[in-house]
Amino acid sequence: MSGAAGTPRCRSCGGEDLRVFLSLGDMPLSDGLLAPEDLAREEPRFPLDVAFCADCALAQILETVPPEQLFGADYPYFSSYTDSLLRHSAANVAARIGECHLDGNSLVVELASNDGYLLQYYHAHGIPVLGIDPAPGPVAAARARGIETRQAFFGRELAAQLAAEGHRADVIHANNVLAHVADTNGFVAGIAALLKEDGVAVIEAPYVKELIDHGEFDTIYHEHLCYFSVTALTRLFQRHGLSLNRVEPLAIHGGSLRLFVGGRSQPDRSVAQHLQAERRAGVDRLDYYTGFSARVGRIRSGLIALLGRLKREGARIAGYGAAAKGTILLNFAGLGAGMLEFVADRNVHKQGRYIPGVRLPIVAPERILREQPDYLLILPWNFKEEIMEQQAEFRRRGGRFIVPVPQPVIV
Ligand SMILES: [Zn+2]
Repeated sequence: MSGAAGTPRCRSCGGEDLRVFLSLGDMPLSDGLLAPEDLAREEPRFPLDVAFCADCALAQILETVPPEQLFGADYPYFSSYTDSLLRHSAANVAARIGECHLDGNSLVVELASNDGYLLQYYHAHGIPVLGIDPAPGPVAAARARGIETRQAFFGRELAAQLAAEGHRADVIHANNVLAHVADTNGFVAGIAALLKEDGVAVIEAPYVKELIDHGEFDTIYHEHLCYFSVTALTRLFQRHGLSLNRVEPLAIHGGSLRLFVGGRSQPDRSVAQHLQAERRAGVDRLDYYTGFSARVGRIRSGLIALLGRLKREGARIAGYGAAAKGTILLNFAGLGAGMLEFVADRNVHKQGRYIPGVRLPIVAPERILREQPDYLLILPWNFKEEIMEQQAEFRRRGGRFIVPVPQPVIV
């Protein structure tokens, strides 16, 4: 299923019985922020259709945009810019060090290690680390803070090479990357090859049940190829001799799962509990997904109606947070310069660029207080508490916030 002609096949089981349940239309690349000189050119768009595999229950998008196009030199996402992500990572590391009895002889590998935002906490404890990430900017930033990092895509080949060099991991972290890789099976096979016999892979991925139940359609974008349930994951790991042994729900990114995976089968109660809950809710059946499209349409029309009313009343509206999901939401709802004045973002690498498709300018947050719009539309709604806290002065001066998902509301 490479986007080439022919029958699409499931990314996990290879089955051909894929049922499309949501089409978002042709969308620009959500992280492909535009430089001023790009504005003269038309940008590439790719269809965004989501399907359910009737064989293994994996929800997935049909199009695969080549990774070089998705994660090229301009890839703007530097993890360390989010305070709550750093706190989440520090707590994750502290728990693993205690649980896995790690010391100076251990090895912790992170796949998609970005700028070393997570491995830095192991490094500070004197535990050897190795980061792997394909994006040159974040890799350079990680090395600058002393985190050994390979600039590469992880998969079967790299795992075999690392194992041959004597690198075997006590802990492998893979946060928000499993859903992003085009070769899902190669990635999991690589984990199996790189893990020590009693090692543990700690994998975080957004939970499809949260996505569907909370209308989080804007977390669907081209980078994000799979939308995992515990049912689908169990089958994926089993195929590579790995066992899903523990599942922890996480509040981060609008509802994620932290999965503990190892070579030995020793599942605790959390795995059976999740599988049971999924069967009860119907997560393993197509019906569960088919009502989602209508719900997404209602979120879109509700948001357009709300912003339209505010504009007619003379309100000035800006966006906050040039996140990937913001690109999807703004393009799907057609919210451009007629509706929003700008999008503010703390990340200096994003400032001065433009949101793909709708082409809204991304500016420094200082602009908010300087211009004091009446409303800020919070695009990365999963960080809304943190953003409203950062923008307390905006609110004190009479500004209000709009949160678009799960339904558009003014807060
Ligand atoms: Zn399948």
